[in-house]
Amino acid sequence: MSASEHNYLLERFLNYVSFDTQAKVGAKYSPSSPGQLKLAKYLVQELQALGLEEINLSPNGILTAYLPSNVINAPTIGLIAHLDTSPDCSGKNVNPEVIVNYRGGEIALGSGEKFISPVMYPFMLQLIGKTLIVTDGTTLLGADNKSGIAEIMTALSILKNGEQAHCNIRIAFTPDEEIGLGMQFFEMDKFPCDWAYTIDGGAVGELEYENFNAASATVTILGNGIHPGYAKDKMVNALTLACEFQQLLPADEVPEKTADKQGFFHLNRLVGDISKVELHYLIRDFDSEKFEQRKAFLTDIVNQFNQQKNLRQPLQLEIQDSYKNMYNCIRQVPRSIELADQAMRACGIKPNHKPIRGGTDGAWLAEKGLACPNIFTGGYNFHSIHELISLEGMESTVNVILKIVELATE
Ligand SMILES: [Zn+2]
Repeated sequence: MSASEHNYLLERFLNYVSFDTQAKVGAKYSPSSPGQLKLAKYLVQELQALGLEEINLSPNGILTAYLPSNVINAPTIGLIAHLDTSPDCSGKNVNPEVIVNYRGGEIALGSGEKFISPVMYPFMLQLIGKTLIVTDGTTLLGADNKSGIAEIMTALSILKNGEQAHCNIRIAFTPDEEIGLGMQFFEMDKFPCDWAYTIDGGAVGELEYENFNAASATVTILGNGIHPGYAKDKMVNALTLACEFQQLLPADEVPEKTADKQGFFHLNRLVGDISKVELHYLIRDFDSEKFEQRKAFLTDIVNQFNQQKNLRQPLQLEIQDSYKNMYNCIRQVPRSIELADQAMRACGIKPNHKPIRGGTDGAWLAEKGLACPNIFTGGYNFHSIHELISLEGMESTVNVILKIVELATE
């Protein structure tokens, strides 16, 4: 990367994080906050200045554009990043600090009361000598996902101003990823790609293409509330039944005792009184078969409980699927993983294949049939005032993007 593109990358990033694009929880329409549309409109101008084609900003704040290939018979690859920032932490008046040649040790954030250090975050030791961008301790940084936008824009700029062979590229900047809303308005037919990548991961080398299969379940228990003084043989206490029922679930298959590719049942809400209790569960598993087994298991124990207790009002179970493991789709386009892998190695980066213990926009796209692995941005500690990113990490992402679109033409 030339010195001027290096500077532009930092400049772009610092510019994009100055837009307050925090997503708003509970919103029905997207974009959930006006700042996201403001940033999207600004990016339209930048894409126009770069000379991209088919630039389109939908009323829902989905910005798409097209850069045709400069060789014949090349595939089309999508590059996706999101405009919004997390609702968990303010993104207003972000006041980043750039630390050139990080010497190691503590970094004071802003006026100095708050700090980050390698004691809290051992990964910081790997960033010694690099240029870090941190917050002033009052907001998040917004590297999630404005680094992704800056990296894509920089790659496009280098391609437009250079001679490098590249495939067809479609880009999409989307709103409200953090609240799982923006993609509902995404028009797949306007984004015809062979496959795509979200540029929304963390540390350098991260490559993600598997996430949980997910469902939610509600068990409703009805009791019979009677004055406790006269309750003998009459009262049915739904609270007691709920405690008994919860004991039937495997005690070790819970979020706090599982990692990597292990699935779980997660009791995340319990509401009620003697006459009615609702137990709300999240069911998660990477393996589709095991995921189905988990749902069947829950159904079985509800049935058994009903039989054993011979309840007048049996337990009710409702299960709703939330999202699926995107690997089901991505495995059918193995080239999407191979190419990212190959590009990282060509850039001297060791790929780190990591399962996502959650869902992503990629999972949504996979369900619509578009394979979309997730590539690193170079950032850390997303959704918090401790968020940080290295400029060298961002450059690595730009280099990987450039390599992917070049290798795709071969
Ligand atoms: Zn993100």
